[in-house]
Amino acid sequence: MNPRYLLPLLTLMVGLVPLLLPPYYVTLLNYIGLYTLVVLGLVLLTGIGGMTSFGQAAFVGLGAYTSAYLTTSELPDWLAWAGASPWLALLLGVLLTVAVALLLGALTLRLSGHYLPLGTIAWGLSLYYLFGTLESLGGHTGVSGLPSISLFGVLLDKGEKIFYLIWAVLLLAIVITQNLLNSREGRAIRALKGGQVMAESMGVNTLRSKMLIFVLSAVFAAVSGWLYAHTQRFVNPTPFGLGMGIDYLFMALIGGVASVWGALLGSGIVTLLKQALQDGLPSLMGSQGNYETIAFGLLIVLLMQRAPGGLWPMLLRFVPARFKARPLLSLDTNITPLPRRALPEHGRQILEARGVTRCFGGLVANNDMSLQVHSGEILALIGPNGAGKSTLFNQLSGVDTPTSGEVLFMGQRINGLSSRHVARMGLSRTFQHVKLLPEMSVLENVALGAHLRGRHGMVAAALHLERREEARLLNEARQQLERVGLGDCLYEPAGSLALGQQRILEIARALCADPCLLLLDEPAAGLRLKEKEALGLLLSRLRSEGMAILLVEHDMDFVMGLVDRVVVMEFGQRIAQGLPEEMQSNPAVLEAYLGGVE
Ligand code: ADP
Ligand code: MG
Repeated sequence: MNPRYLLPLLTLMVGLVPLLLPPYYVTLLNYIGLYTLVVLGLVLLTGIGGMTSFGQAAFVGLGAYTSAYLTTSELPDWLAWAGASPWLALLLGVLLTVAVALLLGALTLRLSGHYLPLGTIAWGLSLYYLFGTLESLGGHTGVSGLPSISLFGVLLDKGEKIFYLIWAVLLLAIVITQNLLNSREGRAIRALKGGQVMAESMGVNTLRSKMLIFVLSAVFAAVSGWLYAHTQRFVNPTPFGLGMGIDYLFMALIGGVASVWGALLGSGIVTLLKQALQDGLPSLMGSQGNYETIAFGLLIVLLMQRAPGGLWPMLLRFVPARFKARPLLSLDTNITPLPRRALPEHGRQILEARGVTRCFGGLVANNDMSLQVHSGEILALIGPNGAGKSTLFNQLSGVDTPTSGEVLFMGQRINGLSSRHVARMGLSRTFQHVKLLPEMSVLENVALGAHLRGRHGMVAAALHLERREEARLLNEARQQLERVGLGDCLYEPAGSLALGQQRILEIARALCADPCLLLLDEPAAGLRLKEKEALGLLLSRLRSEGMAILLVEHDMDFVMGLVDRVVVMEFGQRIAQGLPEEMQSNPAVLEAYLGGVE
């Protein structure tokens, strides 16, 4: 996703710029650096996590005001230590931001659809007015006389000096963000866009993932605010209002909301554009009226029309492939494999549905359904479209909760438990409507299935301290992909596979979880004959290893040659069950399938 020379190139530029450019441009670059830090958080939150926030400017304000207050006011004795240096104020500012973000996140992140952005507007406005109202923060006039930051005894009191700090912090944030995204925790975050149902079924705690990027993006914003405050040495509420919150979003969208480098490009373009309009337009149109705001708005609309996915992805299309980074994944095929779960002894009952009923309003999608699956057995669930098969899968896997009845997995009642919990117990599934992340590589999509088999979290990921575990997870994904016959397309985007292969990818992902029960919803749909045969062989092999498999399938030839037993459903009810051969001549089944032609 990123050209590989960018980070060293940027580091070099950062070193040289203040020596080569006049102070005016250094100041401009300081602003670009400060904005990019905030936008980087938005890339995580909005571009990658799918949550739109208008409120980032308020977190910038939180960082700025905390430090402004602590370094300029008469502090009570117990707090006096924090006023001694901007660095201590930064520490407190970040802690406060984490606390506020956790609180606001708990209140708003559960909201869905339009309510979430509206929620961010609400708290963005509240914090903004809080800054303007509090007497101790100087009201609308703000706070002045902030000290400069000093680093290793050097006072960063000039634009050219603080430039290095701003850009060093930004580079660090870029590295942290890239490391994080390129990890188990990062895959869980990226999975948010593939829908919560899929992510939770792979064992991802989606609320936790959301909270993580919410807090991290707030911390980036607060650090930007701290740097801003001590660059300006003065703060007032204006730059932390909703208008600026919207500008940050513009920057993210224009650069390319899902890419780390898009953040830099977007902030750069918006800042330079604004500056050029402010400098140029008054001399053309007279200084009456805010023509620059109007022109800026029009340009933004134009940019969004011409490059709806942002400028960065558009630029990348022109970069020759050899300059683009190979995926940052290094596959170590000699590494110790992940430990495996001991499968239950052959023939043991793994899953039981007892009188499961699920009503949607007046519609009874599952009506008193009962079935059992044993280890070392393939059970087929068949029935006409709309019979309620997928609904039953959802009841069995914790995606949904039955209206009445019981589901027992490994002897434990699981209805009411989350799909995440059920996944941890050893149930893994695929979906009738394929749920994967089309832009993520095949390998990483499958590695998501192994989420529960890793344990390192955000901090280890950001610092790349979990490389060994990560290599084991990726190696597991590779092995499962080779096992299902997709070993040749590890690095291709999952969305480029044919639909049939995407189904197979989902099976590899499910296997990565090391389950004892597999639920496959129409795994053979869209496969060619040869691929079906290969799938049949794979499922037989899994069965002989002791796996329990429950599958929904329409292709009767496939089912009849493969499975041990069949359960037939119609109108939400079980109408027959038995051996495959028996079902072929069962009058109720023929009636359901052929409308009673016999
Ligand atoms: P199958 O997988 O056997 O084709 P489904 O389980 O998808 O059937 O659907 C069974 C019935 O339940 C259908 O009539 C479908 O419209 C209905 N249904 C499924 N999910 C929902 C839902 N979330 N809300 C309302 N109706 C639903
Ligand atoms: Mg279905």
